Amino acid sequence: MHVSDLPVSAAVREHYRASGIEELYPPQAAAVEAGITEGENVVAAIPTASGKTLIAELAMLTADGPALYAVPLRALAREKYESFADLPGVSVGISTGDFDSPDEELGAEDVVVATAEKVDSAIRNGASWVEDLACVVVDEVHLLGRERRGPTLEVTLATLQRRAPGVQIVALSATVDNPEDVASWLDAELVESTWRPVSLRTGVYDGDDVTFDDGSTLDVDVSDADEGDTDGERDTEATAALVEGSIDSGGQCLAFVRSRREAESLAMRLAEDDLAPDGDAAADLAAEIRDVDGTSTGHRLAEAAESGVGFHHAGLVNEHRALVESAFRERNLGVICATPTLAAGVNVPARRVVVRDLERYTGEEMSKLPVLEVHQMCGRAGRPHLDPYGEAVLVGDERTAEDLWDRYVDAGPEAVESQLAAREALRTHVLSVVASGFADSTASVLDLLDATFFAHQSPDVDLSGLLDTVTGELSGMELLDVGEATAETTDADTAATGDGSDALAATSLGETVSRQYVRPETGARLIEGIRTIEGMADDDVTALTALGVVCATPDMRGTYLGNRERADVYRYASRHAAAFTTAPEEADDFEAWLCAVKLARLVFEWSEGASIEALVDRYRVGPGDVESHVERTVWLLGAGDALAATLDADVDVFDRVRRRLVDSADDTPGDGVDRQPR
Ligand code: ADP
Repeated sequence: MHVSDLPVSAAVREHYRASGIEELYPPQAAAVEAGITEGENVVAAIPTASGKTLIAELAMLTADGPALYAVPLRALAREKYESFADLPGVSVGISTGDFDSPDEELGAEDVVVATAEKVDSAIRNGASWVEDLACVVVDEVHLLGRERRGPTLEVTLATLQRRAPGVQIVALSATVDNPEDVASWLDAELVESTWRPVSLRTGVYDGDDVTFDDGSTLDVDVSDADEGDTDGERDTEATAALVEGSIDSGGQCLAFVRSRREAESLAMRLAEDDLAPDGDAAADLAAEIRDVDGTSTGHRLAEAAESGVGFHHAGLVNEHRALVESAFRERNLGVICATPTLAAGVNVPARRVVVRDLERYTGEEMSKLPVLEVHQMCGRAGRPHLDPYGEAVLVGDERTAEDLWDRYVDAGPEAVESQLAAREALRTHVLSVVASGFADSTASVLDLLDATFFAHQSPDVDLSGLLDTVTGELSGMELLDVGEATAETTDADTAATGDGSDALAATSLGETVSRQYVRPETGARLIEGIRTIEGMADDDVTALTALGVVCATPDMRGTYLGNRERADVYRYASRHAAAFTTAPEEADDFEAWLCAVKLARLVFEWSEGASIEALVDRYRVGPGDVESHVERTVWLLGAGDALAATLDADVDVFDRVRRRLVDSADDTPGDGVDRQPR
């Protein structure tokens, strides 16, 4: 199918031609045949780089009204926003937290790009633009299987279909084992394909050479390895040889390892050789990196960049991550050493992908990476228009090679399984659907849950027992009123059969918790903190008091304590005991309590002007962690303030500290602070 056959404006057709798109790729043509331009629901489960963006654009451009494009990550939202903004005659808005268009303006845009969390939050806050949507595109829909994101995504999709009846749903997925489940849930046509614009061969290194799935082999020269090397050192030398081999022949590489520390140390090892495609550009990049911050992480990144090597992980500040991504795309870096998060993130194709570590520490033990995740890393291989082919190599040795082959090359990816029945997820979403007025009884909650992916996958599972537990918990947290159902709150069937449906209503605290987009348990902790603060002497209530409360909530992402830090944090807590609302002996979990104190102290010192360099040194966190801790604290302080207002409590410390943090952020270049969670 040719671009000139598409039912879009002449200007858009011309725009496609100018970007090198003449003939549709086969999966794109299949999506058109499936009715993507005629308002049909479509699930496209196709590989990376097979042209999903165009499929989404065709749906959005031909929809009979505004469209929403939902992504899992902010960095992706920005990338898509820029790509859609290039389309002639199309107005685009973005709602992610840090580059927001004001909410009321979003209704006027043809296309809104938003993170799934923002869409959920907009629905809870009654945003009217959601009701007018004619088309919703969900990127990375396989995340339905993820513990936290999955339930949000399925409940959001189920409620969106109710709020905007008849809305066209287009879901884009990586190749998974059961795309037909997702398609039948969404009543969608399935487009499934393994077609790729650049062919990909995947192979396993067995300590000697690489065998690829097309039967070819590749010698690996590991002459830099020493006799006495450990297995890990041998894997690193093999990775270095694979990276250098590809760069020597004009390629670029991604090397995936299990942790931030490993990403940095592999980068420093690779930077021993000059891998820079262009020395001047590498020096400019290093200078740009140094300009962002003076942390030791920043120094190491700049030093590696001088040799054409980058690293990429969640401990980097956003600006450094963006610089590494764009330098790689501009071919000023030969290789990026990354943690697996890069595979799910922005578009950075490479000729060769080397996966050095196929296991990772989960906090308790080493566990094997999911097949889907490894396939997503491998799928980054093959730069369209630049590489004749892409290559992915899994690094093993003579003992592990066979297992790697069976698990990751021969076998397909896992199925997507709903995670909604987890109690914690259900608690959040039950409160949210009741608080936003979508349900007012257990019967109507069950009715809504019936439209979720969970119910579709497990039609025989009765959630009513779990629902009773959850509503009981929410009522104990003072977020939900549970009462006898009246005739009006019970649907006809239930009334007829006499099944006891309870009437459900969010309390005003429950409404605030839902609107502020915090978890119920976070809300309960904030409420408890506010009540304690009310009883404290005014002089004892300081910034640390508010920070101590918000840092002890489950929405504040944890940190860990080094052995030597423990005593120091404890001393600090003792010194400031009067300011904290919880004493160590009252804590349910002493380690978690210490972590909360550590975070409160870190954010407090940041607000007092401590530099990111000093904090990174003192608390052994990444510069990007400081950024995200501050950002989450600002959001949770806002929630604390809103709950204090709901309680009519004379507590203004949350607001005061929040303002101070926002002001400090304005004074600190590079700290994007925002009220919403990532
Ligand atoms: P993904 O499926 O990973 O989202 P993209 O939509 O980003 O893939 O497309 C990958 C690349 O292929 C982009 O550079 C895009 O411009 C290009 N592309 C997409 N469709 C076509 C086409 N039909 N012909 C030529 N290039 C295309």
